[in-house]
Amino acid sequence: MFDSDEVKREVRIRNDIVDVITQYVPLKQVSGRYVGNCPFHNEKTPSFSVNRDKQFFHCFGCGVGGDVFSFVMRIENMDFPEAVKFLASRVNYQLPEKNMSVSARKLAASRESTAQLNQRAAIFYHEYLHSDSEEAVKAREYLEQRSIKLVRKFGLGLSPPHWDGLLKHLSDVSPSELVEAGLVSQSTKDKTRYYDRFRNRLMFPIIDTNNRVVGFGGRALEAEDNPKYINSPETSLFKKSELLYGINLVKKSRHKEIIVTEGYMDVLALYQAGFKNVVGVLGTALTESHIRLLRNISCESVLLFLDSDTAGTKAILRAIPILVDGGIKVRVLQIGADAKDPDEYIKLFGAKKLSQLIENAKSYISFQLKLLHEQSDMNTIDGRVTFAQEYAIILAKLESSIEVDAYVTEGSELSGIAKSAIYAEISKIKGSEPTSTKVVKPKITVLANERGLNSAQKGLLYLVLTTPSLAHALYKSKYLEPEQMGNEIYSQLLKIAFDNAANEITPVDIIAHFETPQAQSIVTEIFATQLPSYENNNEALNDMATKIKRAWLDNQITINKGNQSELKEFVEYKKNLTSLNITMWDG
Ligand SMILES: [Zn+2]
Repeated sequence: MFDSDEVKREVRIRNDIVDVITQYVPLKQVSGRYVGNCPFHNEKTPSFSVNRDKQFFHCFGCGVGGDVFSFVMRIENMDFPEAVKFLASRVNYQLPEKNMSVSARKLAASRESTAQLNQRAAIFYHEYLHSDSEEAVKAREYLEQRSIKLVRKFGLGLSPPHWDGLLKHLSDVSPSELVEAGLVSQSTKDKTRYYDRFRNRLMFPIIDTNNRVVGFGGRALEAEDNPKYINSPETSLFKKSELLYGINLVKKSRHKEIIVTEGYMDVLALYQAGFKNVVGVLGTALTESHIRLLRNISCESVLLFLDSDTAGTKAILRAIPILVDGGIKVRVLQIGADAKDPDEYIKLFGAKKLSQLIENAKSYISFQLKLLHEQSDMNTIDGRVTFAQEYAIILAKLESSIEVDAYVTEGSELSGIAKSAIYAEISKIKGSEPTSTKVVKPKITVLANERGLNSAQKGLLYLVLTTPSLAHALYKSKYLEPEQMGNEIYSQLLKIAFDNAANEITPVDIIAHFETPQAQSIVTEIFATQLPSYENNNEALNDMATKIKRAWLDNQITINKGNQSELKEFVEYKKNLTSLNITMWDG
């Protein structure tokens, strides 16, 4: 996005990757590399490796990797231009503004103006809530009645009931900018007409970890106003699946366990009752972006405290694997029939009672056990068998045998099924008993094929990116085109190799071609992974190029199933395809 590679390079050279990463992760030097525990996934033995010579990092555990920019983007939850700014200011390097590309400048400007406009709107709504208007008096009565006291702390406000309350207040700004910020809507019938998106609603500003107001949630105050809640639309700053309500306050509290609830009112109620480690999802399921956000504020464990209805239970079941896979410990709290949500529970039973519940909340396994037991017919043999099998599937994923033992005991006590029977089911799943391999085996074969192709793709790219003469030979052979590499990033990499066949190009320069952390991880994997051993590089290149070409042809044949003439052409092509045979070292 920065036009000038020069500027990027300057900032990168001044920020040694080992120096930057050690500010977040303790690293130890082991035979030329630096290793530590990965900050992006939970681990006890270090698989996170930093290469000072080549200036990139890679985690062999979770697969993330990249250059110093990508590390900062991940750990600080920033986008690329923000990371460049951050690292430039770390070393007091003056960034020339004009070096940003047009699209980057546009996006940065849009984000900045959206944040500023949201900030002004938040102040306007907050002041309106404290005005003498009839609606404001009513809204304050409502807050009183719901005993919401932290109006200032959370910056709550009220949007006026008029169509143009905010529009008039921000009359110095063009309506289209307000639309872009998500504050104003454009009439679909008359494109010249604009109106306030939020009217007569209690306003909850949503603030990100950089303390920017990125959007709003608005709660209806009149029973006839539907829907009950509306949020800002998706803008350059407001992405529901990447935001958590209250994250700005939690960030400061530095708790290891975070309570995740369903909404604005729950967050307010819990915070007010003294539980300051609370965030709310904005009407979406938990996503991997949320997990990253939580890990970035050093969260190690999550207490899921969602509504105690069927929808809440479903949401918990969906969230568990995402959190567990993300290396976060999970406990679950459901308050059953006592109250419909945390807010109501505190009102009925008080904060002290809730504090006991939170302290005693069970791990997600106990939650799943209880649910499974309720859903199984324990009076029939079939029901008991299914119960034991399903429970064993859950336990087979645990790594610690102490944990397994504890949960086998718990399950046995609840169900009356012997511990040995549950153990037998677990070893069936883990071991090679016929009942389990029936399901698992085909999956593994598919994966093995894909793995073979993928290691050919990575191996070939490694060779051509590190050995310009091989890149040149492959280019000249015209055997493999960049588009035939199997995916967008691999294609770009082969193109980079071809374009640089005449000169040396360093890994970090190649990584810098890619700006998203996801793409960079794919690139660092190629440089960090060991190559399969071959007699010589020629043979390796020939073998891998042939494999990739065949896979591409197979794919073309599948895609063109419906197109007879194309199909015939590809089938014919495949039949006549010979292996690549580059012999550059011989001659
Ligand atoms: Zn990792």
